[in-house]
Amino acid sequence: MYYHSTRDSSCRVTAAEAIARGISAEGGLFVPEKLPELTAEKLQAMAGMTYAEKAKAVLGEFLTDFTPAELADCIDQAYAPEKFDSENIAEIAKVGERDYLLELWHGPTCAFKDMALQLLPHLLTVSAAKTEPGKEIVVLVATSGDTGKAALEGFKDVPGTRMLVFYPENGVSRMQKRQMTTQEGGNVSVCAIKGNFDDAQTGVKKIFTDPAIRAKLAENGQKFSSANSINWGRLAPQIVYYVAAYTALAEKGEIKMGEVVNVAVPTGNFGNILAAYYAKKMGLPLGRLICASNRNRVLADFIQTGVYDRNRDFYTTISPSMDILISSNLERLLYDLSGRDEALIREWFSALSREGRYTVTPKVLECLRAEFAGGSRTDRETAETIGRLFRDYGYLCDPHTAVAVKVLADYRAASGDRRKTIVASTASPYKFTADVLEAITANAVPEDDFAQVQMLSELSGTTPPASLLALKGKPVRFTGSVARDEMVSAVLAMLG
Ligand SMILES: *Cc1c(COP(=O)(O)O)cnc(C)c1O
Repeated sequence: MYYHSTRDSSCRVTAAEAIARGISAEGGLFVPEKLPELTAEKLQAMAGMTYAEKAKAVLGEFLTDFTPAELADCIDQAYAPEKFDSENIAEIAKVGERDYLLELWHGPTCAFKDMALQLLPHLLTVSAAKTEPGKEIVVLVATSGDTGKAALEGFKDVPGTRMLVFYPENGVSRMQKRQMTTQEGGNVSVCAIKGNFDDAQTGVKKIFTDPAIRAKLAENGQKFSSANSINWGRLAPQIVYYVAAYTALAEKGEIKMGEVVNVAVPTGNFGNILAAYYAKKMGLPLGRLICASNRNRVLADFIQTGVYDRNRDFYTTISPSMDILISSNLERLLYDLSGRDEALIREWFSALSREGRYTVTPKVLECLRAEFAGGSRTDRETAETIGRLFRDYGYLCDPHTAVAVKVLADYRAASGDRRKTIVASTASPYKFTADVLEAITANAVPEDDFAQVQMLSELSGTTPPASLLALKGKPVRFTGSVARDEMVSAVLAMLG
């Protein structure tokens, strides 16, 4: 299978090249030329398979230039049982009559990013060895909180790699910051930026295509790659969990094989929900894809109107990993919905970088609205939802997941669509203890992070993740913070 760039179809590469490069030289994103087909027989055959086996079945069709042994080795290392606190890798909690919360946060950093970032370093080192052996891979990451830590954990001490993570100084939760700034590993570093996630992401994208930096890398025998969801090696592993969840629900008799279910996803950079879209296009029986936003409702407005407009106020919310106004992976979706029209994509995305907005054609809007429903909710409504789920069902969820639960409820009420729904549960509530506590109790919340963890555990009767408890007393290694226009020098300093 070959991949090409959304902005230049003459740029045609293998999976290994797409993963090693991260982003195409002219700024486009790599997409598969043709999606593999997920037939009913293939889905049936997954009954009884482990998560790793399902991953091998799905990814084997995308990464055709990996040998089966290479792929199996990558997958077995990524989803080794000792790395996840669930032997199923992802758990499914049934809440109420027809909602299935797909808990994607049982990995080492307690957010869904682990599902892909445990695998990506292995895919990337194999890809680099195939394409440009001997070069050191330099991974730059812009994070809204969870990607950074998951990437650090995935890449720490991986030979032949080096990593620098940029996070928005005031845009992550205290636990997220603690996770990143105490990170161990000789090849990783972390730097705060005085700006928001979009600033970090734009800065990183610019550095990738900066000719002077590229020359410096060549001189050092290094090359860049990306661990953000612009990298195909991040996105493909996310398709797996939708297939795995669907087949698991069928195995348990919760749904009939072939029954159409909806999916609701708390969305920021549009990677997670795009993976659901690809799974659907491959043949997984998915219906409406419900895209949930917090107060940064750029996507909800886009699905409503066909106008993508980032010229608006940016809000910091209690669901910080969705505080994003430029959703990178939308480019891959629009490429598909426009009938793979690279000229349109170039036009829209250059308008986005010039004017901060673009308007899709009525036909593309119609296709978009046939597949997706969008909605957004405020922090107050998110907190109410956390409280309600806890009171009514004894189920504790994090603020991101709560946004999706609420937007799903709105969608059901407005549309009358009563289908069963898989809700992507994207983070452990223990990453956002203060806000979750405030949502479920009127009692005073202690100031100390670990006193909060203790209180949440006692109130909910749930066990805090061991990896978060282990942060207690860990020394802070990274205290640096730079302005937006100093990101280039931070990278040069790291390159040595
Ligand atoms: C990253 C993240 C999201 C948003 O996912 P995208 O793939 O960027 O849309 C939602 N919730 C949590 C907890 C996250 O870490």
